[in-house]
Amino acid sequence: MIREPLIFEISAPGKTAFTLPKLDVPSNAGVLDGLAVRPDIPDFPQVSEVEVVRHFTRLSQQNYCVDLGLYPLGSCTMKYNPKVNDKIVTFPGFAETHPLAPAETVQGNFEVLHRMERMLCEITGFDAFTLQPSAGAQGELVGIMLVRAYHEAKGIPRKYVLIPDSAHGTNPSSAHLSGYEVREIKSNASGRIDLAALEQAMTEEVAALMVTNPNTLGVFESDICKIADIVHGKGGLLYMDGANMNALAGIARPGDFGVDVLHLNLHKTFATPHGGGGPGSGPVGVKKILEPFLPVPVVKKKGAEYALDFDRPRSIGRVRSFYGNFLVIVKAMAYILSLGPKGVREIAEIAVLNANYIRKGLEGVYDLQYGTASMHEVVFSDKIQKDAYGVTNLDIAKRLIDYGFHPPTMSFPLIVHGALMIEPTETESRRDLDQFIEAMKTIAREAAENAAVLKAAPHQTYVRRLDETAAARNPIVTWERDKV
Ligand SMILES: *Cc1c(COP(=O)(O)O)cnc(C)c1O
Repeated sequence: MIREPLIFEISAPGKTAFTLPKLDVPSNAGVLDGLAVRPDIPDFPQVSEVEVVRHFTRLSQQNYCVDLGLYPLGSCTMKYNPKVNDKIVTFPGFAETHPLAPAETVQGNFEVLHRMERMLCEITGFDAFTLQPSAGAQGELVGIMLVRAYHEAKGIPRKYVLIPDSAHGTNPSSAHLSGYEVREIKSNASGRIDLAALEQAMTEEVAALMVTNPNTLGVFESDICKIADIVHGKGGLLYMDGANMNALAGIARPGDFGVDVLHLNLHKTFATPHGGGGPGSGPVGVKKILEPFLPVPVVKKKGAEYALDFDRPRSIGRVRSFYGNFLVIVKAMAYILSLGPKGVREIAEIAVLNANYIRKGLEGVYDLQYGTASMHEVVFSDKIQKDAYGVTNLDIAKRLIDYGFHPPTMSFPLIVHGALMIEPTETESRRDLDQFIEAMKTIAREAAENAAVLKAAPHQTYVRRLDETAAARNPIVTWERDKV
């Protein structure tokens, strides 16, 4: 394979992507002098149109994307998203409105926000939503800030937040950033929260339990109502990380099983891909008791008019500019409307079916630490291959790339050593799932017969096995390679 040069290396003085005819009117050059005009950008690449198009097209082809094939990153829900939703957000009424436009000129956009809040309430069983947070992690932070505001209003904010050992790393970070100390709750042999451990840890100093359901092992916390009773019994609140809502949508509503506050990841469950650096959207849903604390502004409907309400004295304040990532919200709404109630339920049914299909297909071939049936994802480990042949989850993941698949999430959740966390999502056909299972079985055979191939994988890619930490430890921040 040819090494694709840097765009700076293709550059040569005088090349441009277009040429314009000579000016036949008076020039107004100089009008902006002394303002924000940069006369020259040092070392700015000079390339022709065909060079720039080919450069970026070639780079894009060295990458993997959800339009190419299965992307089974557990917990990330990298599913295929229908293109029609991306089309809809390009409508000028959505894409070209200014965030500072006067309310009377953007009534339709406010209606979208208002209706979306109502739809999410319907899907999750909550009384109110804020659509402002830009990501799941920010949703968590807002959620725990709401918890704090609630307890403060009652007198004291309390001291601890309980978090199970299987939780996503953002959970303890959010609790910590909100001023709480984190206490870990152990999982039991079925991969669920240990009720006895919870009962012991749940005191009147605990502000909330943060639970993920289904949890990151892909296991449904079937004692969730008891869990809620234990937490509420001591005056605490139940927070749910709802990033995995594609396992429940249309089937079970967190608001009905005792949760007080939750965040969703629209950019996982509802039509924007996760990954790629955003933009995302992590709406937060609450029960009535937390509604007064929601961030400002809130979209209110008065008669036939929509308006932004900033007059909310108990609010935790602003958490973001304007009103969140509006176009991500529009996309999610288009997706939900195009599916309808039956389609939203089918998301969950097929997500769960697909995960269990993979579970059955690979049972016995790869180790399963927990025998509990899967929801939307299944967590294997490298134990069989590692114990017998010294092949690790990294070797397996790298070899999958040679077979045309993106690797699964690795080494998470932390309670499964050498984890391979697979989330096929609801968008994959049986044929795709079979091909993936076949590739995983081939890799298991290779581990036994020719482990060296796995150790050196991938073999078919533009770059081979990378040093996973070198780029972070020894960053090279110049494009002039010979000067390094
Ligand atoms: C993805 C994820 C998050 C964080 O969401 P971001 O949008 O990436 O910040 C939190 N919890 C769980 C379980 C997740 O899968």
